[in-house]
Amino acid sequence: MIGCDCRVCRSPDPKDKRLRTSILVQSDNTNIVIDSGPDFRQQMLREDLHKLDAVVFTHEHKDHIAGLDDVRAFNYIQKQAMDVYASERVQKAIHREFAYIFSGENYPGIPKLKLHEISGLPFEVNDIRLEPVEVLHLNLPVLGFRIGNFSYITDANFISEKEKEKIKGSKFLVLNALRKEKHISHYTLEEAIALINELQPEMAYLTHISHQLGRHEEVNKELPENIQCAYDQLKIEISGSV
Ligand SMILES: [Zn+2]
Ligand SMILES: [Zn+2]
Repeated sequence: MIGCDCRVCRSPDPKDKRLRTSILVQSDNTNIVIDSGPDFRQQMLREDLHKLDAVVFTHEHKDHIAGLDDVRAFNYIQKQAMDVYASERVQKAIHREFAYIFSGENYPGIPKLKLHEISGLPFEVNDIRLEPVEVLHLNLPVLGFRIGNFSYITDANFISEKEKEKIKGSKFLVLNALRKEKHISHYTLEEAIALINELQPEMAYLTHISHQLGRHEEVNKELPENIQCAYDQLKIEISGSV
């Protein structure tokens, strides 16, 4: 947190240094990023990524889309527009928030995007198949994704029984847990644990963590072995198709 002196923000543990929530999904020949928040550029530099095939969006909040402009580096390297997958509503937000991209004036250096609509049905980016899972972030529909034996849900505090069926059977589940205290649009730690126990993945990782949750190591000690806090640069080996 900017300007915060709390013991999490002042922690020497690198696992307490959290950039905005995003994941990189990689197969042998494909790299996809789910969400490009304000830290996208920093994350891409850190991972030394030379090729990006697509950006997939969960929802339009600024902490998930603000870094989209920086795909222009990949436009330049790859000499093509970036494939962007988003729901119709999120596409409208992209047009609004990045109006200059769509102004029709081909100012050199503006990002080039090729928008694809996520309809709710599974879709493929090269050899990676993504099945959207619709969850609610207070009243805002947000997309989670099931990819093989892995499910990724960020920014939720409600999942319908029908959508839970899409997650069930996942070996790995990444789920948001903001803090211990009640929050209007995010699962609390307790709510996330209850949902994980219901969905029964082999291993669950908590993401979209606030500094209010506590230090990585201390929170992990309170958690069962099959539920742990995620951290920046955590790698999970996933397999199979949905
Ligand atoms: Zn703090
Ligand atoms: Zn968020």
